[in-house]
Amino acid sequence: MNAKIRDSYEVIVIGSGPSGSVFARQLALAGVRCLVLEAGRYFPRHLFPMPEIDSNAQIYWSGGLEMDTTCRHGIMRGKAVGGGSLAYQAILYRFDEYAFGPWRAVSRIDFFTPEGMHPWYEQAEALLQMAPVDETYRNECSRIFVEGHARFGYIAKPELRAQRNCRWDQGNDCIMCLGGCPIDSKQSMPHTVLKTALRQGLHLLPEFEAEHIEPTQGAVLVGGTYRKRSKLRFRCRKLVLAGAPLGNTRILLQSGLGSRLPALGKNFYVHTQWFHFGLFDREICAHRGPFQVYGSQDPKMREQGFKLENTFPRPAGLAWLLPGYGRSHHAVMRKFRQLSCVETAIRSFHPGRLQLDRKGHMIIDCGLTADEERRTKIARQLAYDILSSFGAGKIFTSRFSICPHHFGGLNMGVDPKTSCVDPAFRLHGFPDIFCADSSAFPNAPGMNPALTILALSLKASSQLLQEVG
Ligand SMILES: Cc1cc2nc3c(=O)[nH]c(=O)nc-3n(C[C@H](O)[C@H](O)[C@H](O)COP(=O)(O)OP(=O)(O)OC[C@H]3O[C@@H](n4cnc5c(N)ncnc54)[C@H](O)[C@@H]3O)c2cc1C
Repeated sequence: MNAKIRDSYEVIVIGSGPSGSVFARQLALAGVRCLVLEAGRYFPRHLFPMPEIDSNAQIYWSGGLEMDTTCRHGIMRGKAVGGGSLAYQAILYRFDEYAFGPWRAVSRIDFFTPEGMHPWYEQAEALLQMAPVDETYRNECSRIFVEGHARFGYIAKPELRAQRNCRWDQGNDCIMCLGGCPIDSKQSMPHTVLKTALRQGLHLLPEFEAEHIEPTQGAVLVGGTYRKRSKLRFRCRKLVLAGAPLGNTRILLQSGLGSRLPALGKNFYVHTQWFHFGLFDREICAHRGPFQVYGSQDPKMREQGFKLENTFPRPAGLAWLLPGYGRSHHAVMRKFRQLSCVETAIRSFHPGRLQLDRKGHMIIDCGLTADEERRTKIARQLAYDILSSFGAGKIFTSRFSICPHHFGGLNMGVDPKTSCVDPAFRLHGFPDIFCADSSAFPNAPGMNPALTILALSLKASSQLLQEVG
């Protein structure tokens, strides 16, 4: 950290996903001099990389997937202005008691209830335009998904998404949104929350990877590399960590703060998402029209800690996921249009761990146990039953699970020995460093997390504003 200090700010935010964007918006609206540092690039909608391979390489860390120590689970995390919101499907849920109960139990924070978070959810929902997905344009894969739930005694309903005017009547396919929405109908952060902040004078520096922080008396220094070449350093009064579990844990470990935060990296959780593809003798065209029209909304599944998702990968994703090699693999790829898909999402209940090896590579231990395996089998059987009951000739399970939802590493709680972030969203022992993103989650909720990340960040930024506003 010996580069000259380039500039000073009241607040610096590291990361521009849902959490960083909300902090930036609230601070900018209050007139606070604020800088957002983002490792990824800025993509206006007409510059999204269109070939799938390019988009994986450019809007995700490590080309799309970072495998865990077992090589059975691939973490997907966004690396661009907007973070994961560029690629997300904008399916938004308020957490229920199944999510908040285990949060309260482990953190001993009492505002983790549907009622306690209600005012912040209301504000978060007002930031985005949310509506149920229109069923009119659903494809055959969605029909199999929703009718399959009913056939086996489960409930699925249309998903609530932050989107508008998706132009399905003009042949638009929402699967494109996985690489960024080219018509800006999806309410991603750059399109909504960050736009307001930039209009209010927010400073944004893309392509800057923060590497070290140094808390000093009344200030925090942030050092890192711009465009993989220039070393830069900034000073701020307050710092917000919004780099998500892997990003925040890495910065704090690299900064040598692990010894002062005994729980750092220790409470890491994922949702493992396995794809099950049914091969039909007719066209299904799972890639057409609206995407993820339905989702499981069934208390029986909540109790068992899994749900089914109505997804489908883009072609390169399918090639990664389909088992087999050579001709047999090629033969199924050719039948892209005849594949239907049911994805199973399993909530992990046991903590994994994030660490750095001696070369600075992240070691990702998802901590999954026999209990997760057991629930994975139950969910897989249901997916197989649904697909075969509609006439799938063959069914393939993906060779690994993907984990687009990851949590913890800096889990919230009252006890500094077992948690990193206190109930006022400050790092234990570091009153000038705030965090309210997915890394602060006490454990895995089993639900889509983005709305709660927005709500927590709104609550945290109101507290930060009492000190800098
Ligand atoms: C394909 C996909 C679909 C999804 N669909 C949904 C959905 O429908 N609904 C839902 O609720 N959730 C969904 N998610 C998950 C959701 O996108 C994430 O949970 C959410 O984006 C996490 O928000 P965050 O602010 O905690 O972190 P992120 O969005 O991950 O943002 C962190 C940002 O920090 C940056 N960063 C990290 N380290 C550094 C550093 N050292 N220096 C500078 N910048 C750094 C990263 O580049 C990134 O931009 C999906 C995710 C994926 C990948």
